[in-house]
Amino acid sequence: MSTFQELGLNEDLLNAITDMGFVNPSDVQAQAIPLLLNEERDLVALAQTGTGKTAAFGFPMLQKIDVSSRTTQGLILSPTRELCLQITNELKQYGKYCNGLNVTAIYGGASITDQARQVKRGAQIIVATPGRMKDMISRKLVDISKIQYSVLDEADEMLNMGFYEDITDILSHTPDDKSTWLFSATMPREVASIAKKFMYDPLEITVGNKNESTSNVSHEYYLVNARDRYQALKRLADAHPDIFSVIFCRTKRDTQKVAENLIESGYSAGALHGDLSQNQRDLVMKSFRNKQIQMLVATDVAARGIDVDDITHVINYQLPDEIETYTHRSGRTGRAGKTGVSMVIVSKSELRKIKSIERIIKKQFEKKDIPSGTEITEVQLMSLANKIHTTETGDEIDKYLESINDLFVDTSKEDLIKKFFSVEFNRFFNYYQKSKDLGTVDARDGGEGRVSSNDTRYFINVGRKDGFDWMKLKDFLKEKLELGRDDVFKVDVKESFSFFNTEKTMQEKVLAFFTDFKHEGRFVNVEVSENKGRSGGGRRRDGGGRRRDGGGGRRRSDDRRSERRSSDRNDRKPRRSDDSGNRGDRRSRRSNDDKPRGRRSENSNSNFSGSDRPRRSRRK
Ligand code: AMP
Repeated sequence: MSTFQELGLNEDLLNAITDMGFVNPSDVQAQAIPLLLNEERDLVALAQTGTGKTAAFGFPMLQKIDVSSRTTQGLILSPTRELCLQITNELKQYGKYCNGLNVTAIYGGASITDQARQVKRGAQIIVATPGRMKDMISRKLVDISKIQYSVLDEADEMLNMGFYEDITDILSHTPDDKSTWLFSATMPREVASIAKKFMYDPLEITVGNKNESTSNVSHEYYLVNARDRYQALKRLADAHPDIFSVIFCRTKRDTQKVAENLIESGYSAGALHGDLSQNQRDLVMKSFRNKQIQMLVATDVAARGIDVDDITHVINYQLPDEIETYTHRSGRTGRAGKTGVSMVIVSKSELRKIKSIERIIKKQFEKKDIPSGTEITEVQLMSLANKIHTTETGDEIDKYLESINDLFVDTSKEDLIKKFFSVEFNRFFNYYQKSKDLGTVDARDGGEGRVSSNDTRYFINVGRKDGFDWMKLKDFLKEKLELGRDDVFKVDVKESFSFFNTEKTMQEKVLAFFTDFKHEGRFVNVEVSENKGRSGGGRRRDGGGRRRDGGGGRRRSDDRRSERRSSDRNDRKPRRSDDSGNRGDRRSRRSNDDKPRGRRSENSNSNFSGSDRPRRSRRK
């Protein structure tokens, strides 16, 4: 293996490399750096994020540009603001001994005037997102007519995000004789076509195989009933007390909901998706980087460019629609030489996707069981025991110890240990004692076909004559009730009424929501149906799709007050005071949830005593 020196890098860069603690070049660096230093050639490099590709193009670019000139000589295009800032920071570190170097980041959502001012000061290298770059070119705030090197970083992502036109437009303002270096994790047809169109006889290097996942990542899947997805997620988190993870959901709505639920359940989680303002996203990312957030719940688009090195687990809460996207997701862990685990929570109907992914990543998944309550309790206790064992003590605590010692003067060491650990043990033991095992998958699970005693079947007085088919009604219910894609099922639409199911845990919310709800000027009536079967026969209960009486809804609501909520909602825990930073986004979206207010507060008083919940311990 060659050293950085042997790759031909100059003193300034070698000194920075020493400062950063890089010992050996990574694979992509060992391949790309000598090529780019010694030849003026175009390059296509297939490399995953986390393989050290920024330095693979960054070192040669820094060595080749003239820092004594104020002309812009290098342009790096990246798909997201996050990645753009990351590359800029990395390049600044790599070039810290290159006197006169000015690397400027150009991205949307920040002042264009400030960015133009920085460029004007003489930016030899511009790192940009395509949209803002195009904007600045059209306003003549940048001049890229003399660049010698252009980099298309995460080219597949940029094309995925629809930047083809912008990239074409930007490159048309650059000289023909520049060198173009394209980095991509995967090689879909679009990337190959861009390489063909904009590059001349490019050198090609591949780190690992195309689309292949890095060798540092192991892949696991957990088969659960679709309705148990969230419970499964919590167990996976509980079984890994030091988890630092990105959890991928398919939609912005699910992302927000899962994050909200996790926060409400007492985990240190945050949401990252496109409906948040740039400022909110920056705050969430900052908390994640600082490890104040242990679980970042994100959409694929928002997670692009998250280059955080220590991510221990990627959790696919739902599989992506495009299975190629899985490679990007799993590439968020196992970075910078570390190992990582990519977990997939699947329902039976999605199992075939696992096989397709295995073909793409050329790796086998390990089928694993969702940990049982006993396993989780043990893991949590041992984790606590290890933390206590390795805790360094100082003198500051001494003054408090006297009275504590007095209290335990008659307690033996064994009893003290038992009592101490019972505090944590009781929390998990009591909690998991009440919850069911997630190991058994219903034969008919998989969305619409499932039948279970944990479900509630409802009658609703709208049907085909109101313009609904099962899909429209499902979407309508999901939207109104703010439920996820798997939460409403067995939707059966008749002429003037319909039936649908939710988990029993949602029953109260569903009924409360429809207490006084009007759709297109008429009351919509929802009742629990006596028939739980798939045929959806049920008794037609109100004689023709009209509300029977004005007060019916309210009456039912009063009756229901005596019902108990299922234990699944009992997973909420009193928040730790330091969780508050992540809750701003959540509150504003809970208006519908707030409807059964009386019931909710009733619940929180009676069921959630501080000691009967598993509580997350925060990462330091
Ligand atoms: P990248 O793929 O460029 O996003 O790099 C991933 C991480 O690896 C970054 O935090 C880099 O600072 C780090 N890194 C890059 N090259 C090396 C190296 N040769 N040795 C150790 N860490 C590296």
